Amino acid sequence: MTTTTEEKKYTAKDFQQPNANDWCPGCGDFGIINAMHQACAKLGLDPSSVANVGGIGCSGKAPYYMGTYGVHTLHGRPIPFATGIKLANPELTVLVSAGDGDGLGIGAGHFVNVGRRNVDLTYVMYDNEVYGLTKGQAAPTLALGLQTKSLPVPNMQARLNPLMMAYASGFTWIARGYSYNIKQLVELMMAAISHPGLSFLDVLQPCPTYNNLHTKDWYAGKDMEEKRPRVQPLPEDYNPVITAESSEEDVLSHSRNFMLESHRWGNEIPTGLFLENTGVNSYAERIRGQIASYADQAPAQKIIADADGKSNVDLTKMFDELAVN
Ligand code: SF4
Repeated sequence: MTTTTEEKKYTAKDFQQPNANDWCPGCGDFGIINAMHQACAKLGLDPSSVANVGGIGCSGKAPYYMGTYGVHTLHGRPIPFATGIKLANPELTVLVSAGDGDGLGIGAGHFVNVGRRNVDLTYVMYDNEVYGLTKGQAAPTLALGLQTKSLPVPNMQARLNPLMMAYASGFTWIARGYSYNIKQLVELMMAAISHPGLSFLDVLQPCPTYNNLHTKDWYAGKDMEEKRPRVQPLPEDYNPVITAESSEEDVLSHSRNFMLESHRWGNEIPTGLFLENTGVNSYAERIRGQIASYADQAPAQKIIADADGKSNVDLTKMFDELAVN
């Protein structure tokens, strides 16, 4: 994480990008990108030290709305791109912006396998339960039997729980936020980015155009007699922390509580930090264990050509070894 120097202090405005925005009015995506701008500025990051990688979907456009490096990649593929960027240039803060359809549908294989590696990335999931960009089909987080406005029949597939999926895959920092609670979202994003490993932030995000069930009013509990927000902080006595020193009993106890809280859904939906595990080494540390020079010079810093663009890498020895006589 590269921070600003004494001379220059960046603000959220420095992370904004004046590209035309075609998200629908009232979309929860605005809250998420707004929180991302604020979190990066509050952490004192230099915009040129941040890369934001998007998948395909409404959320996949997020890189266009960040004044940082960014890539709009293929459907379900932001993780491989982000992993490559981070491993090539560990100095960069690398964010992934992906929808629940992109990440847990077509991209589910990457989602699971990046968890095994603990690459130092921050994965922000725009979770609205529908494929908004393609007119509102059921995404993997929509519950069985629900019928949002685009569906001709109730959803025939069960809901996938993103927090449990991240936990089972090995993400070492897991939280849930809500796109209309910007204050909490900024704090969670700052913590996610600061975590030295793989972070997952599931952001509940109303899609006013296609999800007519889980709307801003629904999250605010306006349909309930007690008119109380469904989105609540985790219980005060919930402890998200696991360290290398945690006992087996502590880990089991945490797992039980994690499961209970991550399955709470309906009239109370907990938000906040579910897991912070500092006891797992990062992928970069594992690489350094095998390739000593990685710490001194990451691939992006290597000089691979002279001033005329001529490669300075001599492959003769390698070709000699591969030659079939
Ligand atoms: Fe947002 Fe839904 Fe519109 Fe996509 S379709 S921009 S998620 S409101």
